[in-house]
Amino acid sequence: MKSKTHIISLNLADPFGVAPYTRSKKQVVILTLDDGEEIYCGEGSPSKYYNESLKSVRGAFAKVKKLLVEEEFFFIEALMQKIFEKIPKDNTARAMIEMAIFDYIGKKLNIPLYKYLGLKPANDKQTSFTIGIDTMEIMLEKVERFKQFPILKIKLGRDAKHDIQVMKEIRKRTNRTLRVDANGGWTPEEAIRCIKLLADLGVEYVEQPLSRGCLKRLAELKKKSPLPIFVDEDVHRCDSFHELIGVCDGINLKLIKTGGILEMRRMLANARTFGLQTMLGCMIETSIAVTAAAHIASAFDHLDLDGNLLLADDPYEGMKVENGYLRMPERPGLGVRLKGK
Ligand SMILES: [Mg+2]
Repeated sequence: MKSKTHIISLNLADPFGVAPYTRSKKQVVILTLDDGEEIYCGEGSPSKYYNESLKSVRGAFAKVKKLLVEEEFFFIEALMQKIFEKIPKDNTARAMIEMAIFDYIGKKLNIPLYKYLGLKPANDKQTSFTIGIDTMEIMLEKVERFKQFPILKIKLGRDAKHDIQVMKEIRKRTNRTLRVDANGGWTPEEAIRCIKLLADLGVEYVEQPLSRGCLKRLAELKKKSPLPIFVDEDVHRCDSFHELIGVCDGINLKLIKTGGILEMRRMLANARTFGLQTMLGCMIETSIAVTAAAHIASAFDHLDLDGNLLLADDPYEGMKVENGYLRMPERPGLGVRLKGK
């Protein structure tokens, strides 16, 4: 089995703003495994916020490359545990490797990954579409331009005054489902003020109102909040799950945080045990990683799988979205291929 990683550069269709920054490009690592019959793919879209980089993803892969023995691929739980022990902090690299192995398993069995996982294709589920932080004019123009999406996730958290104004204007123009993600940008005082107003505007829930690590304050906010509070930056893997009990109403899981689908399923089981709602998110990444996540989407309450839709030049195709509904590929494995192939 030959394996290699390479970096690809992606352009966003529009500049994308979140509370800490605005970006118009993204680079990701693509892993390909080749057994001479077929190519199996994984993707890692690292985030500086989680202390990962293109270099750290490729470095972590190099450390475990020799563990990728084809005979072990069907024992994926045991193999991923071995890989975890070598690179416990490299969640993005592990997610990328696990994706490629799942692609292999599905292709060898000639079934889509969701079927291998015992899940339904999530074709009856809708994803939100994200509107990044920008000027009022641009945000309102996007609300209009992306009207085929029945659920919008609005990024806020850079300026509480602007946040309130922009949400009032958006609500005047649409009665679609609105969700909000502050990416940790509010103080506790701003958060409660904004959330009360967002409740009046009929917003469904608020994601990560306070910065990462402020769990005591988040628990206080939850008590006062008229809206459900989801965490994203504050949720990672099972080992710190207990910290979230009583602190939030829901969790946003992403492959690059859990380190793959297997750990994500354990997180889902924990969320069920403790009555937390679940949301499946993604990074700005190609159809490889977004489609990999989509294979487990039917197990979630809410979806935010639009990372590939924000790109101008996704080289791959896999899961598609029609009027907000997921359209899963029926091809085996991840069901992803290079466009035009
Ligand atoms: Mg978020």
